[in-house]
Amino acid sequence: MNLPESSLQCLPATAGVLPRHATRKVAVRWGARIVYVGGDAPVMVQSMTNTDTADAIATAVQVKELAHAGSEVVRITVNSPEAAAEVEPIRAHLDRMGVEVPLVGDFHYNGHKLLSDYPGCAQALSAYRINPGNVGRGARGEDNFARMIEVACRHDKPVRIGVNWGSLDQQLLARMMDENGQRTQPWSASQVLREALVRSAVGSALRAEELGLRGDAIVLSAKVSGVQDLIGVYRELARRCDYPLHLGLTEAGMGSKGIVASTAALAVLLQEGIGDTIRVSLTPAPGEPRTKEVQVAQEILQALGLRAFTPQVIACPGCGRTTSTFFQELAQKIEGYLREQMPQWRQGHPGVESMNVAVMGCVVNGPGESKHANIGISLPGTGEAPVAPVFIDGSRTVTLKGERIAEEFQAIVEDYVRRKYARVAS
Ligand code: SF4
Repeated sequence: MNLPESSLQCLPATAGVLPRHATRKVAVRWGARIVYVGGDAPVMVQSMTNTDTADAIATAVQVKELAHAGSEVVRITVNSPEAAAEVEPIRAHLDRMGVEVPLVGDFHYNGHKLLSDYPGCAQALSAYRINPGNVGRGARGEDNFARMIEVACRHDKPVRIGVNWGSLDQQLLARMMDENGQRTQPWSASQVLREALVRSAVGSALRAEELGLRGDAIVLSAKVSGVQDLIGVYRELARRCDYPLHLGLTEAGMGSKGIVASTAALAVLLQEGIGDTIRVSLTPAPGEPRTKEVQVAQEILQALGLRAFTPQVIACPGCGRTTSTFFQELAQKIEGYLREQMPQWRQGHPGVESMNVAVMGCVVNGPGESKHANIGISLPGTGEAPVAPVFIDGSRTVTLKGERIAEEFQAIVEDYVRRKYARVAS
């Protein structure tokens, strides 16, 4: 189809995300490892363990798995004296295993006491997450909050002020409901709740600065479980402050529901340049690895073109032209193979994370899509000659046939990675 010149002129020269919301840059450190959040740093992926922190071995093993999957910071709950006592040993286990990922301690209710009573825990953590809704009420709550900020200042640790609508400061909410009652045109309950979340987060951050915490040691989050509420709250946070923002839909849920809801919310915000670090809060199905949340977070960022983590497999959905499951199996096999190789390739083959591999089911779109990928294979559809042309960097190279198409294609991918992404000696 020939489009008139005028319609082509309507298309933007490049389509991309909006400029990033300008935020301060926060450094999260452990040993020689420094991970930055905000400013010009790439959007960072984080995750959280679900082991009992008092079980140091199980927690260290899960942190290692999450870090291995690509989590750049891992949060652990510190909810009891037993858990606080094990933070230092967990850090030591990780250091012995060569896992430098920074640990963030998640504190509620008794954080002021645990951080004061266990200085080893306070030091071994790279940052603290404090929920201002769970520090206590009134003067006692203010005192508890101040004690935690004082520990953070003393140990030079950044703090994420993380409010959550499930544990919102009830006094603040009640005050705002009263204020709302005086309005000539009262807001809806949901508007008041969103405003209370924003005020709680920004107000607590300003209070932390008054108490001596540096402004570039504060990250904010305000998590809710509704997609539209999350978008509304974060747009407002981005408008009102320049602290880096941690995005996440809380209690996203299980399986595809959790993935879709998180993706819908995070994609809108990230596209608008809002969000400096993300977590996808999935409830794992029994037996499902905890690392799934890291994979989904990476896939969201990669699909938006914000970061690249793993080579992508482009596979067609299949249709009546494919009567066997061979191409689905090949796509799955190649995807699994690429993911498995990444920890090793990441070291020796820089740039491989941007590679695209196309696995297509028939001649209709197969050759075209394959030509656009770094490597592509167009498998034979029903009634087509049983041959599979392979394309490398847009050119047709070999044609595979017979029983060993999968193995031979995998060998071609491996050879391509070795040649194209070889580390250049400096
Ligand atoms: S590439 Fe072929 S098999 Fe795949 S969806 Fe398109 S027509 Fe169907």
